Amino acid sequence: MRFAILGAGMSGILSAIKLRAAGFDDFTIYEKSDRIGGTWRENTYPGIACDVPSHLYSYSFEPNPEWSHRFSPGSEIQAYFEGVARRHGVTPRICFGAEVVSGEFSGGRWHLETKDGRRDDVDVVIAATGVLHHPNIPSIEGLDRFGGALFHSARWDHAVKLEGRRVGVVGTGSTAVQIVSAIVDRVAKLSLFQRTAQWIMPQENPAYSEAHRAEFRRRPEKLHQLRADTAQLFAAFSNGLVDMNSPQMKMIEDACRANLEQNVRDPVLREKLRPNYRAACKRLVMSFDFYPALQKPNAELVTEGIERVELDGVRTRDGRLHELDVLVLATGFRVDRFMRPMQVIGREGLRLDTVWAQRPSAYLSISIPGFPNLFMLNGPNGPVGNFSLIEVAELQIGYVMQLVELLRAGRCREISPSTEATQRFETERTEAARKTIWSSGCRSWYLDDRGVPMSWPWTFDRFREEMAAPKLEAYELS
Ligand code: NAP
Repeated sequence: MRFAILGAGMSGILSAIKLRAAGFDDFTIYEKSDRIGGTWRENTYPGIACDVPSHLYSYSFEPNPEWSHRFSPGSEIQAYFEGVARRHGVTPRICFGAEVVSGEFSGGRWHLETKDGRRDDVDVVIAATGVLHHPNIPSIEGLDRFGGALFHSARWDHAVKLEGRRVGVVGTGSTAVQIVSAIVDRVAKLSLFQRTAQWIMPQENPAYSEAHRAEFRRRPEKLHQLRADTAQLFAAFSNGLVDMNSPQMKMIEDACRANLEQNVRDPVLREKLRPNYRAACKRLVMSFDFYPALQKPNAELVTEGIERVELDGVRTRDGRLHELDVLVLATGFRVDRFMRPMQVIGREGLRLDTVWAQRPSAYLSISIPGFPNLFMLNGPNGPVGNFSLIEVAELQIGYVMQLVELLRAGRCREISPSTEATQRFETERTEAARKTIWSSGCRSWYLDDRGVPMSWPWTFDRFREEMAAPKLEAYELS
């Protein structure tokens, strides 16, 4: 059997390792860029780190005693993935600079084509193309007329000097919060354009000392224990997210409120920073230094709406011009794309763009009726709310490998979920989503076009159970 893996980020590297471990050696990873790493290759903005503790945000089979911090910086995470890919012999299997632009299923195989005209015929496609991948460029009037440097947070221009300059940041998500804290001391003036206030969970980021790291190297069981303990803590938190009335949500709200009350001195600023929705309704932002950064004399929180961007800066609705040299759009991502803009054509000419015209969906986040032998990791409706996406992808690839075994064993040549099972899943999922904290009344990237959270609405334990073994009655085998 021949496989194609789309994307050489965290889940593409994982897929290659698991295919090899199962004895499948005929595969290519197609990567549109010239480097592995996905999110961690693309996001290099100042202050970037992962807010899942590093010892949990690691492959279970590749613990890393060398993490420098509880939440290690992005460059370390990128180096970790490069090291894992090298050690597992994945790197030579990657076809770099090869963006797969189309895939058509016919005659029992997937026929792929890359932008530069390469073709490949494979039995199975694993789409590991990521979620937070396509920058969301806001439709603010005049963006193209700005005279200074302008870029999205995921396209950071390191050639642009920040020292001594007037820098504006649009957005108050996890990205903007990290950027603001990291650059405030470097710039002459920082203007943060806030459309919606955020709850901020105070979270310290202690460094691991050399003694700690030596201990982890010497005693791997300690590392395993730390990972298990962290996973348990996260599970308790994430199980709380799916019930807006859970005690965990109350604790988080109390901690965020206390952070605001105790750590923002000026009552006017405090009120500007006070959200009018429940904590964790949007993706919970973790930071210890955001409030201190905003209280520095060169920082300004701008809550007046943006009217337009002009040659010299940002004009807000009160008529004021905020003069800027650099404008950073920390405005998030288009999260409904997944493997698109690739043209995907399934059985009998069925187009993914048609099936997903309203919104993306998939059975258990992994596969789509009419698109046999195509499996997604971190696809639509998966658990994306403050979990370790590595753990999610590991569970998903374990599930996918069980489906692939059916193909290898000759139980079938094509496998895809039935329309009924997928519709049932979708109905149950949207019903369960009403109880989650993401439904409690705020705007966020978790919500689809109907305002329904598109994330996995049940506990992580339930996800683990679902991923343990496919229920074959949900599938069409032919
Ligand atoms: P985000 O959470 O989607 O935030 C986008 C921000 O841009 C929001 O504050 C939004 O305002 C604002 N915005 C969008 N369009 C706007 C417009 N036209 N005018 C004014 N403001 C506008 O994006 P993100 O911060 O890049 O984070 C995305 C996700 O990436 C996170 O939720 C997280 O899952 C992940 N991430 C994680 C980490 C970490 O591990 N620490 C770091 C970065 C990112 P509204 O709130 O009003 O919509």
